[in-house]
Amino acid sequence: MADLPSPGALASLQKIYALWRQWEKRFSLACQPGCAACCTQAVLATRLETEYLAQAFPAETTAILAQVSDRQWPAPRLTTNQFAALCLARSPEPDDPYQPQSAPCLFLDARGRCQVYPARPLACRVMASTRPCHEAALPPEIFTSIGSVFMQAVEHLDGRQWGSLWSLLPLVLAPVEAKGAAARDNAGPLRPCHPLPGLLLSNREWQQAKEVIQELLGLISGQPSHQQEKP
Ligand code: SF4
Repeated sequence: MADLPSPGALASLQKIYALWRQWEKRFSLACQPGCAACCTQAVLATRLETEYLAQAFPAETTAILAQVSDRQWPAPRLTTNQFAALCLARSPEPDDPYQPQSAPCLFLDARGRCQVYPARPLACRVMASTRPCHEAALPPEIFTSIGSVFMQAVEHLDGRQWGSLWSLLPLVLAPVEAKGAAARDNAGPLRPCHPLPGLLLSNREWQQAKEVIQELLGLISGQPSHQQEKP
């Protein structure tokens, strides 16, 4: 499996994040700094996103290395694109013992603010609510479906590894000489990224978000997933 991102992948990732920011401006969200109800340790990401985060916040990511390296972090059995492929084929979903980690995210500061907010993974960006979460979170209609499509695109763009952010960080931050067997052995279960199999959108959703989805697909065209391994 390739260790390095494909040329231009980091730039495309930044454009995808910017596109999501543009898209979410259409909605009236109740999310405010310091509300961290959705900020648990169940952060899933691609390796590319983890590299972007580690480059943008080297001190913050290195500071938590000791906390994340001494345990295994679970990941779902299926990546976003594998799950989408099953749904598109109308195949039954396999049993998965995965339990999301509900403890507070390791990047929260004492005031409940994200220390790495500008470079947070897409999985964090697509969590939003139209009312305060203490009243029960309510994502805007269509927000979740389009968020899943963005996550599919980011997985496709990377084409390498996907899983818990806390498994990916040691792999990305390990000194060059430690990369290889040792870093991978401690990384916890990571899944190979899969190519985009198609979109899980109704006709109505497609019509509502056609422009943004077309722009998104344009950003990953020419950046084909180079996934080669079976899980
Ligand atoms: S990385 Fe930041 S936005 Fe994401 S869950 Fe952690 S604290 Fe929240």
